[in-house]
Amino acid sequence: MEASFTSQKTYIDEFSPVEYFNMYYDSEQGKLPEWTDFVLQTLHEVFSSGGVEGDTIIDIGSGPTIYQLLSACEGFNKIIVSDFLEQNLAELQKWLKKEPGKFDWTSYIKHVCELEGNRVSWDEKAEKLRSKVKEVLRCDVLKKNPFEPLTLAPVDCVISCLCLEVACKDMDSFYNALTNLKDFIKPGGHLLLLSMLNSRYYAIGNTFFSTLPITKEGLEKALKDAGYEIVEIKYAAQNYQSNVEIFTGDTHYYVKARKPI
Ligand code: SAH
Repeated sequence: MEASFTSQKTYIDEFSPVEYFNMYYDSEQGKLPEWTDFVLQTLHEVFSSGGVEGDTIIDIGSGPTIYQLLSACEGFNKIIVSDFLEQNLAELQKWLKKEPGKFDWTSYIKHVCELEGNRVSWDEKAEKLRSKVKEVLRCDVLKKNPFEPLTLAPVDCVISCLCLEVACKDMDSFYNALTNLKDFIKPGGHLLLLSMLNSRYYAIGNTFFSTLPITKEGLEKALKDAGYEIVEIKYAAQNYQSNVEIFTGDTHYYVKARKPI
């Protein structure tokens, strides 16, 4: 199966947040998917060991998900979530405002509470995250100013999970997106990227969405060329297998990069 590059129009017309959640994040059996195990463990270590903290963190391409912010909410006063699609922003608002039909993230929240030593109950943790999300914004990471027409002040940290390979059709575009993000990170601030190497597509229902099959070498070169210092980088084999190939990619990656002072 080869998917040609998925247009923004296809995203607008065919990306269903509910189907996305059901396929990739529904933890009905109580077991978290391999991807989120990797992300939650990694981000717990990042945020509990100090060094990545400050006033504001922006999540780029949040989609309809909040799992990626559960540890981050300990290190920052303010969280801005963002996505290209209105339907994803609406889903995030539902969770933030506790509206009927909101996605159930309870097992993810409980898991992070456990990692943090159960200092607070899971519903207190959920409330803490809700209270820190101050803005829900539309963004397009392909634009020089992704938040156009808004101009955001530079922030201490940008995080992005599974977004850049989805938005970018080639390595030039990936490099440009990294450069665009760098413009609104403060000097000395951080970029945290978590995603998948060598992925070509993922499915939502019967629709296939393309992804940029990035390599270790390509990733590290793009970061350096865009002017970041790589502080930490981690690769982990992706072992999930199923009869129906709903996504491709063989390695999870995590990068902590710094914008030089
Ligand atoms: N971060 C979430 C969602 C990843 S799915 C998670 O970890 O599951 C990829 C997301 O990238 C989708 O929500 C999609 O709307 C968003 N996206 C696609 N093109 C984009 C663009 N040009 N700018 C910003 N976000 C984009």
